[in-house]
Amino acid sequence: MGPRLDIVNPVLWEIGHVGWFHEYWTLRHVHGRAPLIERGDRLWDSSNVPHATRWQLDLPDRAGTFGYLADVLARQEDRLAGSVDEDARYFYELAIRHEDMHVEALTYSRQTLSYAPPGGLGEAGRPEAGALAGSWPGDAAVPGGTWRLGSTAADGFVFDNEKWAHETALAPFRIARAPVTNAEFAAFVEDGGYGTRAFWSDAGWDWRQRCNAERPVYWLPKRDGVWAARRYRDVEELAPHAPVVFVNWFEADAWCRWAGRRLPNEAEWEAAAIGAPTPDTARLAAGRRRWPWGDAPPTAARANLDFAFGGPVDVAACAAGDSAFGCRQMIGNVWEWTASDFLPFAGFAADPYKDYSQPWFGTRKVLRGGGWATSARIARPGYRNFFTPDRADVLAGFRTCALL
Ligand code: FE
Repeated sequence: MGPRLDIVNPVLWEIGHVGWFHEYWTLRHVHGRAPLIERGDRLWDSSNVPHATRWQLDLPDRAGTFGYLADVLARQEDRLAGSVDEDARYFYELAIRHEDMHVEALTYSRQTLSYAPPGGLGEAGRPEAGALAGSWPGDAAVPGGTWRLGSTAADGFVFDNEKWAHETALAPFRIARAPVTNAEFAAFVEDGGYGTRAFWSDAGWDWRQRCNAERPVYWLPKRDGVWAARRYRDVEELAPHAPVVFVNWFEADAWCRWAGRRLPNEAEWEAAAIGAPTPDTARLAAGRRRWPWGDAPPTAARANLDFAFGGPVDVAACAAGDSAFGCRQMIGNVWEWTASDFLPFAGFAADPYKDYSQPWFGTRKVLRGGGWATSARIARPGYRNFFTPDRADVLAGFRTCALL
């Protein structure tokens, strides 16, 4: 099963929490069963256990934790052997997606904590050589028109913050065909970007000064003309044409000011990803594709998802996944910061998992598109991810728009 897992409390807590979430919403909420572990809610209910004390709880050991997960799964399988009604199905789908999110989060925990690469990728965890496809410069032109921002019932399982699609007017815009690369970000660093006040928002400059940032968090100082970064336990030369990753929103915003560009808002991002031109009027068609490339499911040729390449690939890779406007990698490879604040759409109502969206409105920025460790269930074009603008530990990069 790949390299040895070095489980310490933060990871052990997270694994137990995933099992608890499954149990809570399916066996207990849907089927009315009593808790399997009496103190489970005190250990693993993320809504009630403060983050700072999670790592000091009296958790079951590794065997006990995996035993608990196996127990939950066996009971779910018993239940699923019969028919499952739509209401029950919703909660199973929710619990699976919650697990998907934590699988991805465990990947960036490994980076944060300098652990081994995720299991199954081999010791180096390197992207396959075939993915070293090079750069993909230039902009795609997207005509103006009415866009229906948000998800629809046809999208299947959707989270409360995506409901529902609503019309929004878009002016014509130009958006990069690919995310910003390591080489492009290095030019900003080498040009003194981190030390130039004019490139930073007030909050961004505060952040930069507080942590004394001079380059992206995992980058090492340039040596012998080479940029390198820590990757899990090792230091590796940066791939020039891979997208920059582990940059926060402030850094993305500062790069834009330096380059004379801007971040897309989430309506622009979505229209560029799954919109299409109307040939006769050169307006943006209101119809949405299921994926940038059409209705067919994701494959590694279309999108770097689900650990397909074990890490980020060059921005010219996955050409079969281009959108109607010629944007590449809108889905997969790296999450993309947008200019948009994470806010509810009009008519928002919280779904049963009330703490999923509502507590975070107004304090986070929206990211779209999914990264290489994101499951295809999560990385639908309509999925709105959200983090505070100072978070540089997630698999996030960005793509930009022309100022016009
Ligand atoms: Fe969780």
